[in-house]
This record gives sequence, structure tokens and C-alpha cells, in this order.
Amino acid sequence: MSEAMTHMQIRELLDENCENSCKGYNPQELCVKIAAIADLPSRFGQFHIVAFYHNQDGKEHAAIVHGNPLDAEDVPVRMHSECLTGDALGSLRCDCRDQLEAALRAIGQMERGIVLYLRQEGRGIGLTNKIRAYGLQDHGYDTVEANLALGFRDDERDYTIAAHMLQSLRVRSIQLMTNNPRKIDGLTALGMRVTGRIPLIIPPNPYNEFYLETKERKSGHMLDLSGKEHLLEQMDRPIIDGMTAEQIEVAQED
Ligand SMILES: [Zn+2]
Repeated sequence: MSEAMTHMQIRELLDENCENSCKGYNPQELCVKIAAIADLPSRFGQFHIVAFYHNQDGKEHAAIVHGNPLDAEDVPVRMHSECLTGDALGSLRCDCRDQLEAALRAIGQMERGIVLYLRQEGRGIGLTNKIRAYGLQDHGYDTVEANLALGFRDDERDYTIAAHMLQSLRVRSIQLMTNNPRKIDGLTALGMRVTGRIPLIIPPNPYNEFYLETKERKSGHMLDLSGKEHLLEQMDRPIIDGMTAEQIEVAQED
């Protein structure tokens, strides 16, 4: 059984984050700190949910924490970008929900681990623009045009927020849960020690079957049954249980 953060440790975290001013608080400087913490029992296990204050984007980022990450080494971490349509509504236009659930399920069974839930809907362009891009695809725009409309996420910004969140949680080193080895560099560049990588393997289900089926035809891209390409909203290409070694290799190349 994993040991969760104690009430006293949570109090301490909240106090030190309250006092932390990110080097003298300068509105130009990024400041990310813990604002609130509560228990979050879920279908994926026992977690704490940690809400963060962010001084620049006004977004309420969150960490879903299992076990005790304080001053710990090699903490498994998954970075997930918010996708309302996938995460909450079960959209089949992407596989965000599969990736999120697989990460929570895996981490919920580990001694400790963290899912960083980054509030960057549609790669940071927001829900409306994401839906505009979907609409363009529905009306025959190809994926490149729709991708341009959707905008590409600024990965660096993700890493900066993620690194700050992990520092606020006093994580010493992490094992990044990702299918893309190159993503490790982004966090390392910001001073986060990444000691390893854990592949995120998604169990097959009726909703991602199509991905496997079409993988052969067009590797690395997600198509729905009508043959239209999906936008990839998460940073990682999914690895679904049952893929061949060759398919996994393709998934791990960005
Ligand atoms: Zn999505």
C-alpha cells in the first residue's frame, strides 16, 4: 500500500506555497504555486487533487497525486493537456480520454505518481478554436489546413508550467510517462531531473480499435472510419496493447 501525503504535510505545502513569491514576484515572471489540496477518491484509486495558481495564463492547472511525492526520487509523472471533448464527453475524434484514463489507472496502482492536468484545451487555443478546426475538417479541409487553424501547442510552455508544478510539490526527480523519448529533454532543460521513461500502454477497447486498424494504412496518424484524419491533441502517439514492435517504434517517433 502506498502512503499518501499526511494532513500535516499538506498544511506545510500550502503554507510554503503561500509564502513563495517566485523570486520576489515580478508580474513578468512566471509564478505557479499550490492554492488548494483535497482528497480525490476516484475509480482509478486514491488520489489527492492539487489546484495551482498561475500568474500569467489565468488557468487553474491541477495535479492528481497518488501516494506521497514529497522529496521523492523517480516519481512517475504524466503530463496531460485538457481536452473537454475527449476527457469529459468521450469524443472519438481523439484518444485523449484513453490516454488520461490509462495514466490514472497505471499511477493509481503504483507506490506514488502524479498526473499533471494542464488546462490547455486545443493545444492552448481554446475550445472554440478547436471546434472551429473540427468544423473545417467536417467540411473537407485537410488535416494540414485544419491543424493550422487549430494551432500547434507551444510545448515549451507546457514544460515550464509542468516543471514549476513539480517543484511546488517538492519532487526531486521523475520518470516521465511518455511514448516519446524526446519529450524528456524539455523538462530536463528546465532543471527537472528525469531519471527514466515509462511507456504509456493503452488497453484496447472498442473506441481505439479503429486506431489499430488504420495504423497499417497510414502509420502515425489517426483516422476515423470515414477515413478523415484526426488531430493529435496530446503530445504522445498512443501505444495500444497489441501493437507490433514496429508500430510501437513508429509511435515513439514524433
Ligand atoms: Zn482530445
